[in-house]
Amino acid sequence: MPVPPADAPDHHRRTRLLTLGAAVVVVAALAVGLVLGSRPLPRPAAQTPTAAPSPSVSMTEQPALAGLHIVLDPGHNGGNAAAAAEMAQQVDAGRGSRKPCNTVGTSTAGGYPEHAFAWDVAQRARGLLEAAGAAVTLTRDDDAGIGPCVDVRGRSAQEHDADLLVSLHADGSENPDVAGYFAIVSDPPLNHTQGVPSRQLATALLDALGRAGFRPSSSYPEALSERADLATLNLAERPAVMLELAEMRNPAEAAVAESSDGRQRYAEAVVAGLEQWAAERR
Ligand code: ZN
Repeated sequence: MPVPPADAPDHHRRTRLLTLGAAVVVVAALAVGLVLGSRPLPRPAAQTPTAAPSPSVSMTEQPALAGLHIVLDPGHNGGNAAAAAEMAQQVDAGRGSRKPCNTVGTSTAGGYPEHAFAWDVAQRARGLLEAAGAAVTLTRDDDAGIGPCVDVRGRSAQEHDADLLVSLHADGSENPDVAGYFAIVSDPPLNHTQGVPSRQLATALLDALGRAGFRPSSSYPEALSERADLATLNLAERPAVMLELAEMRNPAEAAVAESSDGRQRYAEAVVAGLEQWAAERR
């Protein structure tokens, strides 16, 4: 159908406005890119062609994370609380045991939920990891759904042919004096990726959290908990670690978890730990 001539000027004005709008979006996106790009991310020292070779300078020009495929598993999900029947479904938990599909998780005294904390830290970590050249798969698409069940989370790294699995959580010890991050690994190990490889990954992540100024839990030796009952770890066939980044019932750590600055620091520490782990393997 021919366009009535009277519409033409209006149409062109809309086109110009759209073009102008698109230009504004592009400029804004570039500005955001500059800001994000300026965020400090640990990288190997830059090599200058004129500098004499130094054993302290990294021999690789690539960031250690480039080419790595990482599964991040943000614990729980925002829809779990309203899905009691789905949550109660029994699934494979490894070692011949079965467990409920998933749980609601904990929250701060102020009501900030663990699933939102884990989701936000995972989003931030994903951005940093992808900027460093890693591929990232998340075990859930948003923070409003149900599950996935713990067996799916546990098999996610091998399902996606990824290099490792990091499950992000925060703990909910009822005693508000209990504080500090800790890592959990499957023990006794059920395959060759559990045991030493998963402990090495845990150590790198724990080191980085310490370097970032967070406090290690005193509840476990070296802030490392060994458990036989977690499907997410039992079913993994890649190095797999669950991180309890904060105690949500501890007022000081709850305040950090509730702040976007705090979640950014957690994400940067997780990425620094993964970079250390990857660098040790090159
Ligand atoms: Zn949790």
